[in-house]
Amino acid sequence: MKNILSILIVFLFLVGCSTPPKPKTIAIQTLSGFPDDIIDSVKQSIEDYYKFKTVVYENIEIPSEFYTNIKSPRYRADSIIHFLKINKADSIDHIIGLTTKDISTTKYSDNGQIKFPESKYKDWGIFGLGYRPGTSCVISIYRLKHPNMETYMERIKKVTLHELGHNLGLTHCNDPHCFMRDAAETIKTIDLVELNLCEKCLSKI
Ligand SMILES: [Zn+2]
Ligand SMILES: [Zn+2]
Repeated sequence: MKNILSILIVFLFLVGCSTPPKPKTIAIQTLSGFPDDIIDSVKQSIEDYYKFKTVVYENIEIPSEFYTNIKSPRYRADSIIHFLKINKADSIDHIIGLTTKDISTTKYSDNGQIKFPESKYKDWGIFGLGYRPGTSCVISIYRLKHPNMETYMERIKKVTLHELGHNLGLTHCNDPHCFMRDAAETIKTIDLVELNLCEKCLSKI
């Protein structure tokens, strides 16, 4: 009886001490203009899926020095996420940049050299980019367009939750249905994954 009582006391003590973790706050920063209805959908998908709080900032222009025209007019995604990171308020856990402009990065091979052929990969157009782990990411809807509005919105939500997943520390996943799957240079991968993490990824966040 004494043992049961002490277990009960310990249990009550533990229950009394556990406070639920504070929900994270995510800032949405539109860059050089962005459609309002898409902002609302992105905001809702973050709140529904990750249960984070979201705030939407006033639009700002992408700094002109991030512009490049090596292959076509684009903005360097690496520069954007660095800019968002260094200007982030301390009260914000993660900041997501949303843009309609095409964004790019340089793709490297495992040996640290620019992936071959260099002319193709030096300035490679992407859907999104985020630090892993980290506090900022950027999503461009430029390459996600689809005549079917539902498919278009699904793509945007999947890429947003994917990049935020990187910020939370998730790596790419081999599960064919998980949204942390590497797009592997094709939009088809994004259409095939679900708006869900696999059990393995889910257990890590
Ligand atoms: Zn990724
Ligand atoms: Zn997964």
